[in-house]
Amino acid sequence: MSAGHDFIPFAIPDITEAEVQAVAETVRSGWLTTGPNAAAFEREFTEYLGAEDLHAVAVNSATAGLHLAVEALGLGPGDEVLVPTWTFTATAEVVRYVGATPVFVDVLPDTLNIDLDAAAALVTPRTKAIIPVHFAGVPIGTAALAEFASAQRIDVIEDAAHAFPVQDAGRFVGDSASRAIVFSFYATKTIATGEGGMLVTRDADLARRARTMRLHGISRDVFNRYASRQPAWQYEVVAPGFKYNMTDMAAAMGRVQLSRAEEMRSNRRAIAERYHAELADLPLSLPVRVDDPTGHAHHLFVVRTTDASPLGRDEIIEQLAARGVSTSVHFIPLHLHPYWRDTYDLAPGDFPVATDAFARAFSLPFFSSMTDAQVSQVIGALRELLGADAD
Ligand SMILES: *Cc1c(COP(=O)(O)O)cnc(C)c1O
Repeated sequence: MSAGHDFIPFAIPDITEAEVQAVAETVRSGWLTTGPNAAAFEREFTEYLGAEDLHAVAVNSATAGLHLAVEALGLGPGDEVLVPTWTFTATAEVVRYVGATPVFVDVLPDTLNIDLDAAAALVTPRTKAIIPVHFAGVPIGTAALAEFASAQRIDVIEDAAHAFPVQDAGRFVGDSASRAIVFSFYATKTIATGEGGMLVTRDADLARRARTMRLHGISRDVFNRYASRQPAWQYEVVAPGFKYNMTDMAAAMGRVQLSRAEEMRSNRRAIAERYHAELADLPLSLPVRVDDPTGHAHHLFVVRTTDASPLGRDEIIEQLAARGVSTSVHFIPLHLHPYWRDTYDLAPGDFPVATDAFARAFSLPFFSSMTDAQVSQVIGALRELLGADAD
């Protein structure tokens, strides 16, 4: 192994002077919590999605947004919610927050998105909703999802943590008939505010409930009807709400990131193209390739070992680290985590696709500010380990 390799992180946020300036101005303005920037971010986000009838509710994480969505739908004990096992724990944990029961579903071998046929087989009279994940940025067909929901008569909450910006059949993920769509602006996501998220919905009542519950269950609606006579101190608590509002510093960063979302995606797309071209002959199964440049958010680049790989997944990760290349694994499926496994009596054999994918999958460094030299170093390290002339 050669010395002199630089360390390549798995992911870092792409922050320019514009984000720094926007946050600094907000700090100097004296308005730190939810205020003008959060309101502008919500407006600009729906403008970006290109649908005027969408409501956007800025929150301090996607987890918060998903929780607000299941709360607003009134889900609770006795209700079942379909979730993919191939996801981050947040997708399922919000179902437990309201006392409902997650029902875990296997995924499709190519996209690792939820298998809707497997989901259909798990529907019972208690099934109230499904929370699909657009894994790595490849959308689950909006039409297939809407058809599934209407055939099964259940609600859809899309976990779109990986899915900004991406279009399916000419419409952005976010602009759909689902009850709610939730995006994440966590530090490693495609647009980042440190911590943050956005709940989007066409349902005005759901949006109103989410706004109220985002801030302690406080409502000013009753007074807004008489706005001219409303004293500034007046409000009513109508429910035991949460503290999920987005700060104006996060929103200021988010607005700049939003304006750069397409540029950052196209950088990631170029990196994906190089990975596809220059890793194609290795004993690795590469992620699905989407021809339409708007059809992939390019959040993650997840590869899997094949039976011809000379090294196992864990050893590859270790050897890449020794060459300065950080990787990650998306995901350790939920059915293998002790809480979910033991609480719901889940076995690896219940989820053959996810269980097999987990043994093979690892995520390559993939972020919009990655340099050509860094991409070359990742490719070079993999070729050294897995190429025809590897020893
Ligand atoms: C990151 C992530 C979340 C949680 O997002 P936060 O903003 O950190 O709460 C939820 N679901 C998936 C699939 C994620 O990757």
